[in-house]
Amino acid sequence: MSKVLVIGAGGVGSVAVHKMAMSKDVFSHITLASRRIHKCDAVAASVKQRTGVTIGTAELDADDVSATVALIKAVQPQLVVNLALPYQDLAIMDACLEAGVNYLDTANYEPRDEAKFEYSWQWAYQDRFKEAGLMALLGCGFDPGVTSVFTSYTHKHLLDAIDTLDILDCNGGDHGHPFATNFNPEINIREVTAPSRHWENGQWVEGPALAQKQTFDFDQVGPRNMYLMYHEELESLAKFYPEIKRIRFWMTFGDSYLKHLEVLQNVGMTRIDPVMFEGREIIPLQFLKALLPEPSSLGPTTRGKTNIGTIATGEKNGEQKTFYVNNVCDHEAAYAETGSQAVSYTTGVPAMIGAALMLTGQWKGAGVFNMEQLDPDPFMDMLNQHGLPWQVKELPSPLAF
Ligand code: NDP
Repeated sequence: MSKVLVIGAGGVGSVAVHKMAMSKDVFSHITLASRRIHKCDAVAASVKQRTGVTIGTAELDADDVSATVALIKAVQPQLVVNLALPYQDLAIMDACLEAGVNYLDTANYEPRDEAKFEYSWQWAYQDRFKEAGLMALLGCGFDPGVTSVFTSYTHKHLLDAIDTLDILDCNGGDHGHPFATNFNPEINIREVTAPSRHWENGQWVEGPALAQKQTFDFDQVGPRNMYLMYHEELESLAKFYPEIKRIRFWMTFGDSYLKHLEVLQNVGMTRIDPVMFEGREIIPLQFLKALLPEPSSLGPTTRGKTNIGTIATGEKNGEQKTFYVNNVCDHEAAYAETGSQAVSYTTGVPAMIGAALMLTGQWKGAGVFNMEQLDPDPFMDMLNQHGLPWQVKELPSPLAF
């Protein structure tokens, strides 16, 4: 009997709950709570129709710690899976500590009034979770999440030591809109417009946003332009693998997306400071979010594939080697299975897998953990079983870019 409480009924929450319902042996009772109950009820209806499983639903403002504690006490889950927004991370961690329950999320905390995310706020919970004998698992999506596990798998099985690591995130999908984001637009645009940052020889190297570009030929997608960016797993990978000399993150963007983003930035629509409009304050980026298509509405129209993976170089038995570990996920297949496109699918499936490993005790511990600290093998097995199969390919060494 394992009970789970999932918070957040967006694209990722919907996929995670569908996949949990498909693994009834592990998730015997599922409750989905979110800011607006009708979103939870719509997911519950889809889960019932696709899997026959009935899940519980509840309305919750997770910024309100006492409300979350009350819901946890009513539901009595062994684990809270936070698939709301990064702004809620600390409030939900506080509620888990107060109610005495384990915690999992997919994105690190970010304050609302500053486009800045880092692990320091959540790593500061280490002692409190440890003393309470509880586990908090951070960043259990695809990137961060699977990319961190690909790295620990490479470290455990393929290379004696990693010298350089590149994370390549390609969304080769086309949703048919001139401009839309595949996950929460506010979070996505804050991430993409931030300065680039990568780890090199023990320090962070900063540059302007989207200024460094490479073309890479992605399996089952084709050649795409990818841009150097900062991404949250770089921080934990640099901490837990101090021997890696250079860690970079690359994401593909199409020319239309970049053209729209540039204009929106130039006219001030991506600002996150309040602006007076007709006698009241508005945040331009939140207003823009209201105009853009909801990511969950992109499912029916999105065609093509995502291809996300890690390329690591290093030594194996004294010889230099380069290994590419990656997953290719089809938007239409993801939609047919869960009603959500591949960006939500590639995040919701790892969240379900992490939750399953915690509930079955295969991943356990007291304190705050990042994905690369845990044994990659059961997670890698479950990726193959639950819709995100991966491949390992040896590339010519050294890497061409
Ligand atoms: P969505 O915006 O689609 O969904 C977020 C959900 O959280 C919405 O249902 C929203 O409610 C709900 N919510 C927002 N605020 C609150 C609150 N105060 N209390 C309760 N519920 C709330 O986002 P996604 O599903 O795309 O993303 C979910 C999370 O996954 C985000 O943190 C995102 O950063 C992360 N992510 C991680 C990735 C990874 O690879 N690691 C990749 C993609 C996303 P409402 O519908 O009413 O607005």
